[in-house]
Formats: sequence, C-alpha cells, structure tokens
Amino acid sequence: MRSTTVRFITAAALALAAMAAQAQSVAFTFDDGPHVSDTPRMNAQQRNQAMLDALAKHRVQAALFVTAGNGANTEAGLALARAWGKAGHAIGNHTMTHPDLHKVPLDAYQRELLDCDRIISDLPGYQKWFRFTFLREGNTPEKLDGMRSFLKQQGYRNAYVSLDTSDWRLNDKLVETLKNNPAADVSAIRDAYLSHIRQRALAYRDLSQKLQGRDIAQVILLHHNLINAMWLDDVIAMFKQTGWTLTTPQAAFADPIYALAPDRLVAGQSLLLSMARVLGLGRFEGWERLVDDGDYEIAALAAKGL
Ligand SMILES: [Zn+2]
Repeated sequence: MRSTTVRFITAAALALAAMAAQAQSVAFTFDDGPHVSDTPRMNAQQRNQAMLDALAKHRVQAALFVTAGNGANTEAGLALARAWGKAGHAIGNHTMTHPDLHKVPLDAYQRELLDCDRIISDLPGYQKWFRFTFLREGNTPEKLDGMRSFLKQQGYRNAYVSLDTSDWRLNDKLVETLKNNPAADVSAIRDAYLSHIRQRALAYRDLSQKLQGRDIAQVILLHHNLINAMWLDDVIAMFKQTGWTLTTPQAAFADPIYALAPDRLVAGQSLLLSMARVLGLGRFEGWERLVDDGDYEIAALAAKGL
C-alpha cells in the first residue's frame, strides 16, 4: 500500500517536472512607440490603450522601447509612454529618430541613445535597456566594439530579441487596406498575422533547442502599432492556448543566454539567428522563413485578392 502511494507520488512528481521542463516561456516587448499619428479605426490614444488593455487582461508585464522622435518628445506622446510605466511595464530606449547604425557614424548613434535617455529617464518603469534599431549592432569592429563599451560605460544592457517577427510588414498591409476601404473585412489579415507569429515562435523555439539544447525564455519583438492594438489579445491568447507561459522581460533577461555577445562582424537580428551564424549554421532547414520579412503571409494574402 505504502509503496504504491510512493510510486504514485513519484510518478506525479516526475510528470510535473517533465511539464515544467517543457514549459516554454515568452516575454513581450514593443518597439518604436509611442506613435502619435492617427491610423484608420483608432487614434494614438486608442491604440495605446488597446495594447495596454490586452496586456492587463492577460496580466502580462511587458516592455516598451521608446523611439522618442515618434512622439514621446511631445507632452501628449510622453503621456502615452508614461501610461505604460504606470501600468507596471518597463520603459526602454530605442533612440531618438531610429537611425541605422550601419549607415550613421558611431558618435551620432551614441548621441541618439543619450537624447532618448534624457526624455525617458523620469518615467516610471525606466530601465537602462537599449534595443538596437533594425537589430543592427554594427557592421564594423569599430561600431560593434564601440557600442558594446559605450553601453557598459552608460550602465545600459543590450535588450536582445530572440523571437523576431515581421509584425510591421503585416501592419503596413492592414493600414493600407483600411485606408483604401475603412469598412474592409480584414479577418484574413488577422489570421495571417496569428499564423506568422505561430510559425516564428515554433521556429525560434526549435532553434534554441538546436543551439542550447533547451528552451530559453524567449523575448518577442512586436511594435507599437495598429495590428497589435487590434489583435494583441489574440496573439497572447494563442501563446497561452498552445501551452506557452508568459514571463516578464526582467525574468527573461536573467536567462544566461542574454549575457552572451556573439563574436560576429555584422551582428544583429535575433540573438539566436546571430549565434547560429557565428557557428556557421546560418542555413539550417527553414532559415529562409526567419528572414523573409513576412513575404510568405503577404503572398498568401495577395493570392486571396488582398
Ligand atoms: Zn525599431
């Protein structure tokens, strides 16, 4: 009797441990916000609130990476960013005007970080987290090493992305479709968006298992835009339905993988993709679908007449 009970408890504990080992987690991060211009269906305030409502509904604590020139350099735009901090989200730095480090001098890029920092440093939730624009960390050793030592000197961390998406491309499609016809049925774009996120999530999970032999805490990159104002609720629900757990950016960045810095001349993109390339594994099966800017989904929508 007793040994049966012990066996049962042991089996249950093992099953629980196996589930915990399999639990894949994701932290949500949003770049380029807050935008203050209007889009079809929603103004800036409504978009901002819709994203915050979706996060609150699922009790997700996320991070907003501010590009101050998109609006936070005005009182109204700064109030939108402040609302994220007040709601318990982290506020990070994504430059002043979103320049490309591969096209501007190192010192100009560093000034962009400092200019944005002055605007966001009083906000609740402020963190010294820097998200590289276009996820490009330098195309010369001078820029790559220059930014790495500059971040260290400023007390900033590189707020890596592991789960890169092309939400911006499908957002462009959504905005264009609704500008042409505000009453358009956009459910096909919603389906394409969810399928895109699902495909990327599974592919990056697979890549982390290939490279690390385990599930890392994934950090997903989305943007402060209309597509997330409309469907972030569905995106989060999809992750939950497929057994993923939601974590915070703080907890995800504590995963040792985010302390690594791949020794790569043209560093950038997803940290996982960057690591794969350093190892000479850039062309694994399915790699094209990780760098295609959402072409697959856009082509599928075009085939449906959208
Ligand atoms: Zn950006």
